[in-house]
Amino acid sequence: MRALVILGQCALMASGCGGRTPPEPSENVKDGAAGGLQPLGEVAMAGGGADVQEAGSEGRAAGLAGLDGRAGAGAPCEDDAGCEGRCLKGEGAASGLCATPCGGVCERAGDFCASLSGGSEGWCAPRCGDQGACPAGSRCAVAERAGSPEQREVVCLPARGEGATACQRQLDALGVAWMRGRVAPSHPEGSPGHLCEVRDPVWVGGTLHGVALSPGGGAPSPDLMSCEMALAVEKMSRVLSQKGVARVQHIGVYSCRTLRGSDRLSQHALGSAMDIVGFEMRRGPTISVQRHWEKDRVEPRTRQGQVLLEIARALHEEFVFNVVLTPDYNAAHADHLHVDLSPDRHFLSLGPDQALLGFPGGD
Ligand SMILES: [Zn+2]
Repeated sequence: MRALVILGQCALMASGCGGRTPPEPSENVKDGAAGGLQPLGEVAMAGGGADVQEAGSEGRAAGLAGLDGRAGAGAPCEDDAGCEGRCLKGEGAASGLCATPCGGVCERAGDFCASLSGGSEGWCAPRCGDQGACPAGSRCAVAERAGSPEQREVVCLPARGEGATACQRQLDALGVAWMRGRVAPSHPEGSPGHLCEVRDPVWVGGTLHGVALSPGGGAPSPDLMSCEMALAVEKMSRVLSQKGVARVQHIGVYSCRTLRGSDRLSQHALGSAMDIVGFEMRRGPTISVQRHWEKDRVEPRTRQGQVLLEIARALHEEFVFNVVLTPDYNAAHADHLHVDLSPDRHFLSLGPDQALLGFPGGD
């Protein structure tokens, strides 16, 4: 795979590079997440690397900046000639997406300054439309803000070329917005014998099948998880959409730690678990696990309790997750549903006797 080469993009425009202060990070940064992301190496410039390096010359910059009749950021393109900035393409792709360079912010409302190389300079890309809609030649993906990599947004980027894993290609086929993540292997505090390692880590954002994923109940934002977990979250969103859920409030996916009161590694340490505290419904009030789960009652009396039980049962019976732990499991789960992908298990904790199929996983 050819490495991404973007040189001298500031020279492409008369203004818009440098000298701007990116806004303060507003995103919820995961505790324990290693941070730092790999470049989206599969995105190449139209015309190849040599052309990109030549593009740094002042003469070419003057010829490109602000010409009338050329398409702005987000328009489909086949080559640079049709774009106000450059035509970004995935490796081997015939068509791509016009992009203008930026240093953290974009002038046009709705655009996001996406870093494709991990550096402080990026490319203005339009945010995805409803249901992840993007122009031809592009896909809805997660990107980090140039200069502020802790801020991520779901934007239209050039269609992906080569280099994706089989799991990542599945995410593409399902229309999931994602980007590669990176998690430096680490040890849980006090457990040097365990290694937290996320296989095929991806950032997955923010709304799937009309169901928003909201860390801490805030605005929808991308989350770091294993690619296998991302596939499960996509399936979960489909199931929850059918149940009338508009937003999932959760309090964590990846966390490098062991199980409480045990030396076993948590599925959270593998990026393959999620703790869900509530569901905002398309109609009706928000349902809280803490307030509405009717403990040890397999036939809840309230409508909210019934919906919660239906959701827990569906996540189990439809094999969305291998383990679903509810407040019935123990006091540590009084306020959330823990779901995970523990291998060789199929477990839902339900009622005073616990519906035990296989063995419970981790929390
Ligand atoms: Zn958990």
